[in-house]
Amino acid sequence: MSEFALIDTIRALTTLARGDVGLGIGDDAALLELPPGQQLVACTDTLVEGVHFLRGTAPADLGWKALAVNLSDLAAMGATPAWALLALTLPAAGRDFVQGFAEGYAALARQHGVALVGGDTTQGSLTITLTTLGGVPAGTALTRSGARVGDVVCVTGTLGGAAGALRCLQARAEAPAPLLQRLHRPVPRIEAGLALRARASACIDVSDGLVADLGHICAASGVAAQLDADALPLAPELTSLFDAESCRELALAGGDDYELCFTVAPERVAASLAALADAGCVATPIGRIVDGAGVSVHDHAGHGLAIAHAGWEHFAP
Ligand code: ADP
Ligand code: MG
Repeated sequence: MSEFALIDTIRALTTLARGDVGLGIGDDAALLELPPGQQLVACTDTLVEGVHFLRGTAPADLGWKALAVNLSDLAAMGATPAWALLALTLPAAGRDFVQGFAEGYAALARQHGVALVGGDTTQGSLTITLTTLGGVPAGTALTRSGARVGDVVCVTGTLGGAAGALRCLQARAEAPAPLLQRLHRPVPRIEAGLALRARASACIDVSDGLVADLGHICAASGVAAQLDADALPLAPELTSLFDAESCRELALAGGDDYELCFTVAPERVAASLAALADAGCVATPIGRIVDGAGVSVHDHAGHGLAIAHAGWEHFAP
């Protein structure tokens, strides 16, 4: 397939009409209309074969996940997604790959009404860079910097599932289907992010691991966090596969869950959890914001726990 046949294939499989797209795929750049009073929210994420996903991952899963990890960033800002741009670098112009990729992408894009409005297609090592754009009413975006001493730390859904699946795959063992789903088809918490707007004091999505990502909230807010290890909501399939200590480590340090970790003033916890429940999302209080710096973890007896691997970091020594 030629570059332009590839682009046509992607375009055909991802068609989605939005009134705010003045000009989409096909010109030198897209023209987009943001409603008055909204701030543009923009983010981008790259998936590299062998770094972010194992060689041989199904193209449809890659298409879904490339969009999901981006939408997760918009969710953490409390944004409503609108548009996406796709920079695709492929070793070869394989029709099957592009078709599968576009179908997986489109399945999630349709759920959130995201229009693909442009991109770039090049030859090289398999690398997928997706940019998504969305909106929030001006001044209402959730950020990492608003956590205050006394706030309650909460997390949506369950933790450790994606990392548990990865551990199975790396050991060449079979992973239970629900865990594979967590790894390959993460569900971005868009509705939860909207429900948390004007309620949470700070928010981040858990992409690199809970401790690492909550650490970013702490650093940006100038506070510390104390987590209760026994309160962590574990992905249910984990406990039959791993011992208690491994489960805890997967929940604290495993990446790729794409849940939202947020802080909320104590008097707003009940209303926040209720708003999340209305949005179809369970959330669990897991700790407190305190004076100081960094994230510590305690068990029910109050003993501090060492955290073996804080989370994924590129260029780690
Ligand atoms: P240019 O050379 O002006 O950068 P291209 O020939 O690269 O334009 O792309 C032609 C059109 O197709 C542009 O509108 C571009 O945004 C779009 N496009 C290219 N690759 C992709 C892709 N992978 N996904 C979506 N749109 C793409
Ligand atoms: Mg180009």
